[in-house]
Amino acid sequence: MGNHLFDLIKARMPAPTAPFAFLDDGRTYSYADMVAFSARFANALVALGVKPGDRVAVQVEKSIEALMLYLGTVRAGAIFLPLNTAYTPAEIEYFLGDAEPSVFVCDPAKAEALKPFAEKAGAKLETLGVGAGSLLDKVHAAATEFADVARGADDLAAILYTSGTTGRSKGAMLSHDNLASNALSLVDYWRFTKGDVLLHALPIFHTHGLFVATNTILLAGASMILLPKFDPEQVFKYLPKATSMMGVPTFYVRLLQDQRLSKEAVKHMRLFVSGSAPLLAETHREWRERTGHAILERYGMTETNMNTSNPYDGDRVAGTVGFPLPGVSARVTDPESGKELARDEIGMIEVKGPNVFKGYWRNPEKTKAEFRADGFFITGDLGKIDPAGYVHIVGRGKDLIITGGYNVYPKEVEAEIDEMPGVIESAVIGCPHPDFGEGVTAVVVAKPGAEVSAAGIAKALEQRLAKFKQPKQVFVVADLPRNTMGKVQKNLLREQYKDIYAKQLKAGE
Ligand code: ATP
Ligand code: MG
Repeated sequence: MGNHLFDLIKARMPAPTAPFAFLDDGRTYSYADMVAFSARFANALVALGVKPGDRVAVQVEKSIEALMLYLGTVRAGAIFLPLNTAYTPAEIEYFLGDAEPSVFVCDPAKAEALKPFAEKAGAKLETLGVGAGSLLDKVHAAATEFADVARGADDLAAILYTSGTTGRSKGAMLSHDNLASNALSLVDYWRFTKGDVLLHALPIFHTHGLFVATNTILLAGASMILLPKFDPEQVFKYLPKATSMMGVPTFYVRLLQDQRLSKEAVKHMRLFVSGSAPLLAETHREWRERTGHAILERYGMTETNMNTSNPYDGDRVAGTVGFPLPGVSARVTDPESGKELARDEIGMIEVKGPNVFKGYWRNPEKTKAEFRADGFFITGDLGKIDPAGYVHIVGRGKDLIITGGYNVYPKEVEAEIDEMPGVIESAVIGCPHPDFGEGVTAVVVAKPGAEVSAAGIAKALEQRLAKFKQPKQVFVVADLPRNTMGKVQKNLLREQYKDIYAKQLKAGE
């Protein structure tokens, strides 16, 4: 038995001199460099005592070294466990306690603050900086040959914590085959070839940037332009050298605000992909007008890698996330009875396939609760499948508003508000209401200088929505709280508005 994921990468490699990554400091990293450096990392980890099945937890800024640490961990037969760079030491304490890694790698600037937590969790603390004693130092001294540790398709390659949008992050256990099969499927579905150059501006502590982007490029034998973070300056600088980009919706919104965006600026590009959060239909339309490209929207999650994608050749329908990937089954069920629903009926989206994770780390009860007896994973997302087979997401189960016994899907109300002149976007949430259980509440972002009033919005909605769907209160704000993946944090909004809502309700009586 070889090393399932890395054997596949090697088997599909282009010529050793072919570029794997173009760095923003002008260096080019070839495929031969990738093999040699990941071997050095694997050697250094083994020398630190890392054994097959151990966790290697990592909180580091994006860099080629961080990616090599990922591959080195996989080659050493260990489990890569990246953590969001925005997490505070107190948050890291929780993750280290939960994961109990044998090694924890952080940036030098954070070592001091994180040391006690690494010690408490029984992990060796290593830093990824330059200088004596750092992991990089050990890596540079290590051999460029490594006999990959044998790992089968079902062995774990990574534990990735979910984004924590709906509650405490959960560790999703992902096998070699979860990662490999999904990336291979994307290579085919999105037609990646050795000649492709991906503009990689996503963080690498998340499924999107680490697995969807990096693994797809590796298994296509293609190249990437590795940007430390999303920055329109850098994007416009490198766009002429790229063929494809993967982003979250906020990337596209930000680029649309830039005068430099034009058909000319993207003329080498063949593919723009969006995921991780809903892409507004308006963004899809504007992008098409400005660039001539229809953004390909897709749907994935930490637990399942990628589930669905709009077609490469067929119609990329705005507001949908497309079709299940080959080998992935998707269905919509009644959240209570679990009975499968007909086309166009809204319910719980469930998926099954080689992409679906092995369970939540050290949480068998939660794992059991999220799987049906026939192996389908209950995603927690509400949606429908239309007669043509496109999957539509209407929001998260946890964001569904139940008011006076009626179900209100926030997205339906948001779509009406977002179409109004002067509105950029909105978030509709439920706030506790003494009579109705929850009251529909809209938080609306207006364009700077636009005359948008709460009363005006409420009035306009009277004509468009049934009474029970109309927000009882509307708030106009400057922006919505978002996490690092650009997801609107409705949990925070609910916390923020519940007292204001109650006060206004009292005042209005
Ligand atoms: P947590 O599970 O900890 O609450 P999270 O679900 O935000 O956090 P991720 O795994 O990063 O963590 O995100 C997956 C979720 O992102 C999906 O379940 C879905 O709600 C949302 N999502 C991803 N892509 C899309 C998309 N194209 N349209 C709408 N929602 C999307
Ligand atoms: Mg989730």
